[in-house]
Amino acid sequence: MAITMPKPDAGILARRREIASAMRAIVPGEGTVDGAEEMRAFETDGLTAYRQMPLVAVLPETVDQVAAILRYCHAADIPVVPRGSGTSLSGGALPLEDGILLVMSRFNRVLDVDFDNRCAVVQPGVTNLGITRAVEHEGFYYAPDPSSQIACSIGGNVAENSGGVHCLKYGLTANNVLGVEFVTMEGEVVRLGGKHLDAEGYDLLGLLTGSEGLLGVVTEVTVRILQAPETARAVLIGFPTSETAGAAVAAVIAAGIIPAGMEMMDRPAIHAAEDFVHAGYPRDVEALLIVELDGPKAEVDHLLARVEAIALEHGASECRVSQGEAERALFWAGRKAAFPAVGRISPDYLCMDGTIPRKELPRVLAGMKALSEKHRLLVANVFHAGDGNLHPLILYDASKDDEFERAEAFGADILRLCVEVGGVLTGEHGVGIEKRDLMAEVFGEDDLRHQQRVKCAFDGKHLLNPGKVFPVLHRCAELGALHVHKGTLPFPDLPRF
Ligand SMILES: Cc1cc2nc3c(=O)[nH]c(=O)nc-3n(C[C@H](O)[C@H](O)[C@H](O)COP(=O)(O)OP(=O)(O)OC[C@H]3O[C@@H](n4cnc5c(N)ncnc54)[C@H](O)[C@@H]3O)c2cc1C
Repeated sequence: MAITMPKPDAGILARRREIASAMRAIVPGEGTVDGAEEMRAFETDGLTAYRQMPLVAVLPETVDQVAAILRYCHAADIPVVPRGSGTSLSGGALPLEDGILLVMSRFNRVLDVDFDNRCAVVQPGVTNLGITRAVEHEGFYYAPDPSSQIACSIGGNVAENSGGVHCLKYGLTANNVLGVEFVTMEGEVVRLGGKHLDAEGYDLLGLLTGSEGLLGVVTEVTVRILQAPETARAVLIGFPTSETAGAAVAAVIAAGIIPAGMEMMDRPAIHAAEDFVHAGYPRDVEALLIVELDGPKAEVDHLLARVEAIALEHGASECRVSQGEAERALFWAGRKAAFPAVGRISPDYLCMDGTIPRKELPRVLAGMKALSEKHRLLVANVFHAGDGNLHPLILYDASKDDEFERAEAFGADILRLCVEVGGVLTGEHGVGIEKRDLMAEVFGEDDLRHQQRVKCAFDGKHLLNPGKVFPVLHRCAELGALHVHKGTLPFPDLPRF
């Protein structure tokens, strides 16, 4: 394991049986899992290069159980890792050997669909696609659509502030969540926001969204639902180089057109997806854009013509507009299956997630080619081009020599390149463990200390998902510049985090 995790506490490991009994008293029966074989299912998430067994896995069904588990762990100083469906690509749900894995998959009910207020209240274990399934009979849908939407949970989406194809026009999870209920590490149940727009005071909802399971455990989510557009059409546009495709993307947005989705795939990804799904992608191009326009028919037709004109100005070799709903769905099926498709051509791959200003796309794509030669590994690109959110898939074979180490070094270099051109380490997959040690490339010591003060305000003992996001863990007392003498705080009667 190249990334080191906090050293497990021997005292906690020695109390495993006692802790499992305490968990079983709170969540009886099959809801508490402590057998090695049964826990194997939870040893990793979507970042499968890293694996670790939890101390005990617990699958609560009620908010009271979540609160009781957290209260117990807080009192006994036991770390807790929240988990939804375990599809995180940054290792956010990687268990800790001395920690409880709090699996939220049994929170799987849609509690309320309110078409009048255009929102739905759901439990965090409901899948992303499950929300759309619950409202589509009335012509509604939930807009953010990660490619993993069939499996990933809305609780995980909130924790990662997940994105997807349609987020270019309709916003990320943060823009589509109206409220949450969460439980603090001390077992308090807190509600933020609700069915109404905005709330008074600090934007704590914004803070919780994207907090990667470090601030609280989400137990209920209120999401915005949208009416499906009157028309949606997609166009496949082929280019002779990735750089020209990248320039066309920047030009479309610069022209003031915001497509419902604008995705890009390079040659290796096009071929892998075409072989897998037979979506009708052209094989003789170096880069493919899939651009979707939605809205009233007249507007869609007008914008499609403008997008095609811009693409041709940038050297597009072919444009093919979807004729009907079945073909539009097929265009997207190839893109949505691109990750598993790449999994068929390489034994292993690492999926990176940097975001850059759109106009830097040609420069970064060219830089990635040079890095591919430097690290002697192939890369396939499938990404949210309109958002400048890159997903280079680095192909490697874990069974060969030092390929995993080279893949990680290649990934880190790509992310450094993103930062160098004014971008960031992550667009939607989160920091987790994967990018934790690169945080110092973006943030100074002061920035990181300020961010950790927020963590201290919610979780003063650093028990929620430790070892993730922050490269170095500071004690809360240290951050507050307190002098703790022989374990005694000055002014012990003062409330502090
Ligand atoms: C094939 C594939 C394609 C993907 N495509 C996309 C994509 O297009 N866009 C995108 O954004 N992501 C994508 N992902 C990544 C992943 O699906 C998302 O990050 C997703 O939001 C994770 O949800 P999950 O339920 O699986 O969460 P998990 O993996 O279980 O957990 C993720 C993080 O959320 C925390 N967490 C989970 N539930 C809770 C809760 N109830 N309360 C507090 N914290 C919680 C965990 O501690 C962890 O830090 C993809 C993954 C795969 C495998």
